[in-house]
Amino acid sequence: MFDTIRKIISNGKRFLITSHIDPDGDALGSVFSLYWVLKSLGKDPRVYLKDHVPYRYVFLPGPSEVLHTLSEETFDAVFVLDCGDLFRIGDGFEKVKNMGTVISIDHHETNEAFGEINIVERSASSTAEVLYGLYKSMEIDFTYNIAVNVYTAVFTDTGSLRYENAAPAAFIICEKMVEEGVKPAYVAQMVYESHPKERFLLLGEVFGTLQTFDGDRIAMAHVTEEMFRETGTTSEYTDGFSEEFRKIRGVEVSVFIRQTGAKRYKISMRSKGTIDVAQICSRFGGGGHKNAAGCTINGELIEVEEQLKKTFNLDDSLQLAAG
Ligand code: AMP
Ligand code: MN
Ligand code: MN
Repeated sequence: MFDTIRKIISNGKRFLITSHIDPDGDALGSVFSLYWVLKSLGKDPRVYLKDHVPYRYVFLPGPSEVLHTLSEETFDAVFVLDCGDLFRIGDGFEKVKNMGTVISIDHHETNEAFGEINIVERSASSTAEVLYGLYKSMEIDFTYNIAVNVYTAVFTDTGSLRYENAAPAAFIICEKMVEEGVKPAYVAQMVYESHPKERFLLLGEVFGTLQTFDGDRIAMAHVTEEMFRETGTTSEYTDGFSEEFRKIRGVEVSVFIRQTGAKRYKISMRSKGTIDVAQICSRFGGGGHKNAAGCTINGELIEVEEQLKKTFNLDDSLQLAAG
């Protein structure tokens, strides 16, 4: 299955590695682990990420320079990791098609097979799990820099080995990476217990917007640009907010709405029941997984909320609490 990629790697020298906007642990751990693997093989990899590395992931070892703009350079291949569609790379995404053979390695249900080569394992917990298979087939040496990135990617994309996708493979990979020297307590502290206090001021504001519908089956909350301004925070402080509302007893889907422009909102959905949120988000041009998905909707907040309620067949008479 990895034959073609192994050949491309061994015959090539210069590679570009990229992933999605608002990079999460899997995006970063996948990109950085592949960076170190290619380095260990004497290759010349570059990393491009539209957005900067969020504070909770700055501890991950990566290249000394992450590119945030795409030049006119060409590469032997461009690895697009953890992206269901090319658009997820962010502005300028079309450019990568002319920069080299596009190789998509991913695990999203909604993957569009946009690469020239596509390795998509929908049952994998994370993109890093797919890459782990590649690394093993290449018999690479799992140095600490590779191991800590693989571990963090698998660990965060499975919600600390708690979500539906936490199958034996995820545990086995984490175990192996711990054997290679990864310290779980250190990673957990970096990722989950290193927030600036402003995050909690913002979370307090967001808690105030919580509404539940349909006998508490659906929870909805939002954050506006004004709330970011008031608390001195940015969008990266909201990582994990959506999971927060899924913790409510009875809630099957949490919908978190984040303002990204004057009339533009990023929606994050989390499901813990049978409702497939990837399918719901794909109606709005987004996608993801059955239990975690996202999309963007344009309009005023009130209109966006109305559209979302309509997709869940909710009307205001079902609302139990309003913030
Ligand atoms: P998020 O809510 O941004 O944490 O994303 C949850 C899941 O849905 C992740 O696996 C994302 O890769 C995916 N996702 C989020 N936004 C989009 C989008 N606009 N299009 C496709 N997939 C998305
Ligand atoms: Mn991701
Ligand atoms: Mn992922």
